[in-house]
Amino acid sequence: MRILVTGGAGFLGSHLSDRLLADGHEVIVADNFFTGSKKNIWHLHNQQNFEVIRHDVTFPLYLEVDAIYNLASPASPIHYQRDPVQTTKTSVLGAINMLGLAKRLGVRIFQASTSEVYGDPEVHPQPESYWGKVNPIGPRACYDEGKRAAETLFFDYHRQHGLAIRVARIFNTYGPRMAPDDGRVVSNFVLQALRGEPLTIYGDGSQTRSFCYVSDLVDGFVRLMDNDQDLVGPVNLGNPGEFTMNELAEAVLEVTGSKSSIDYRPLPEDDPKQRKPDISLATSALGWEPGVQLREGLDHTVQYFRGVLAE
Ligand code: NAD
Ligand code: UDP
Ligand code: UDP
Repeated sequence: MRILVTGGAGFLGSHLSDRLLADGHEVIVADNFFTGSKKNIWHLHNQQNFEVIRHDVTFPLYLEVDAIYNLASPASPIHYQRDPVQTTKTSVLGAINMLGLAKRLGVRIFQASTSEVYGDPEVHPQPESYWGKVNPIGPRACYDEGKRAAETLFFDYHRQHGLAIRVARIFNTYGPRMAPDDGRVVSNFVLQALRGEPLTIYGDGSQTRSFCYVSDLVDGFVRLMDNDQDLVGPVNLGNPGEFTMNELAEAVLEVTGSKSSIDYRPLPEDDPKQRKPDISLATSALGWEPGVQLREGLDHTVQYFRGVLAE
């Protein structure tokens, strides 16, 4: 198949492209390089089955493809809050354009949604049936509400136009090719530890997250996209192992062997206190569950960032 990956120069999109090429597909990446990098896909540029287009998904795109993975969107708070209006436009107009493309071609389309649609959740862990608790006017709203509106569009194109959709709600994911400057906790801690700088824990470090290693997540994408039982989603994809930021800091210090100290900083506004996926749907319907443990995944990530620092 010829597959379009929007946001394919980013962290997840580049790993997905690797996987699709390895599975024998042709891949076209459409990316405006807002947060992505040519470095993430440089190793693919000589492959015959691979092509890149510099394109902003808020504008229409006319191509002939057999399937679409829509990943285009900044993903970390630092990046998505840099130009909040563009963030919402990317989610909403990007969804409309890619859905329009899928509709014209009659092809299946995958949406990278997010656990942020649950906001600061009152239900723990979060099942897909939970509607979420999002502040519609807060600093995270451009991302959370943009992704929620995108889900609405996906389900309305599905109901109204019979489009074959697949919607994944992705929980925090980490691994090689995370942008070093995007302020996410795993990249921050690993880089701080490797540089011998203090690890910056926001708040008292008791807030929790669940961290999924990138190869596990990409495997979940492909299983969801390829399922022929018409499981459209939304489906939670993430690792249910739950860690406080204090525990994560400890694990990073252990894996890097660093002697960095801890620097407690103020908690950002609207920072969710806890997050952990209920993945029973993905497990029962797709036979999917993550296999890479935090320390093993951190090991690969640390090796990658050692390489980045040595460049
Ligand atoms: P990333 O920032 O590394 O990649 C996003 C890519 O989208 C970048 O290459 C960027 O240049 C591109 N992009 C942004 N705006 C665009 C636009 N208007 N037109 C075309 N391209 C555009 O982020 P990521 O971590 O790889 O995230 C990929 C997707 O997965 C995003 O949709 C994100 O919301 C979602 N997601 C990621 C996580 C995570 O933990 N990484 C969690 C939940 C959801
Ligand atoms: N679109 C696109 N590529 C296509 C077909 C459509 O980018 O191959 C965009 C186009 O901008 C359109 C949007 O997708 O406005 C939604 O398409 P749809 O057919 O749902 O609605 P339209 O606006 O065309 O009535
Ligand atoms: N965080 C932290 N130190 C950092 C960066 C983030 O303690 O240097 C915290 C942040 O406040 C949040 C958690 O780590 O509670 C996860 O943050 P991230 O930005 O990675 O993801 P998200 O908040 O989107 O889940």
